[in-house]
Amino acid sequence: MDCNRCDAEAVMHAAYSGAHLCDDHFRESVEKRVRRRVRRDDLVPKDATPDDPETWVIGLSGGKDSVVLTTVLHDTFAEDPRIELVGLTIHEGIEGYRDESVDACVELAADLEIRHELVSYEEEFGIRMDDVVEDDPENMAACAYCGVFRRDLLEKYADELGADLLLTGHNLDDEAQTALMNFLEGDVSQIAKHFDASLGPLSEREDQEEFVPRAKPLRDVPEKEVALYAHLEDLPAHITECPHASEAYRGEIQQLLYDLEENHPGTRHSILSGYEEVAGIVADEFNDDAEESADLRECVECGSTTTRERCRKCSLLESLA
Ligand code: SF4
Ligand SMILES: [Zn+2]
Ligand SMILES: [Zn+2]
Repeated sequence: MDCNRCDAEAVMHAAYSGAHLCDDHFRESVEKRVRRRVRRDDLVPKDATPDDPETWVIGLSGGKDSVVLTTVLHDTFAEDPRIELVGLTIHEGIEGYRDESVDACVELAADLEIRHELVSYEEEFGIRMDDVVEDDPENMAACAYCGVFRRDLLEKYADELGADLLLTGHNLDDEAQTALMNFLEGDVSQIAKHFDASLGPLSEREDQEEFVPRAKPLRDVPEKEVALYAHLEDLPAHITECPHASEAYRGEIQQLLYDLEENHPGTRHSILSGYEEVAGIVADEFNDDAEESADLRECVECGSTTTRERCRKCSLLESLA
């Protein structure tokens, strides 16, 4: 089958759009979607200047998503002195998994000549995820601990690095899953928070002064296409799964979405675009009677912003001690 836009052979077919694209036109289409998302989400402020550049910290795990995001953003902004990219990698202390993906991050940052910071749970908190899984004092899934620690470090270092934006490589499948999970859990306040934390255009989000705003400019690109892009560009991406991966519910939703997408191509796109619209309306509604932000205070242990006396990270660390 030929490419829809030239005579070369197609390397991919997207059932949701009907497109057949060759290597070059496929890569171009991925890059276009990321750039369009950067524009639509207003990520580059109008007053950004080369003298006072924006610092964008990218959560760089070494998996295909963050590696592709970093590469496309680098290609987009390499000649633009208004944006400075920094890769931030977090080592959770997972034997045989994170070591190799850290190598991928180091290699990528060197190739692209961008600043790269590496932080670890061990150095920051004196714990390793492999041991946390053994101890498991709260009787929880590994990811429930790991997510709290990761969020804490991303926020802390984004702040320390003077980030204007914290970017992560969530793709279309990830975000459609989260959207569906939030719907199915019936948690409307979670949907409003999702909009203000990472989804809405920057100009439309409720100001959250305590947190560095987040963005997910890869969320229009399906997971398979991210993988194909990484492969065609021969990027140093690490593919094995974390041995502690344990989000069982997300796995069920993922399977459900695969099946729906197979029979009704375009389902992920429509779920996410409908969700974003609803999330914007819900966020407005919640912000009108915004009691919530008034409840924020500083953790007595570490000073980070929290709704309780001791933040979640500090209470988990205490039970692990
Ligand atoms: S899969 Fe879970 S345990 Fe493994 S790195 Fe991700 S959040 Fe941590
Ligand atoms: Zn072509
Ligand atoms: Zn704390």
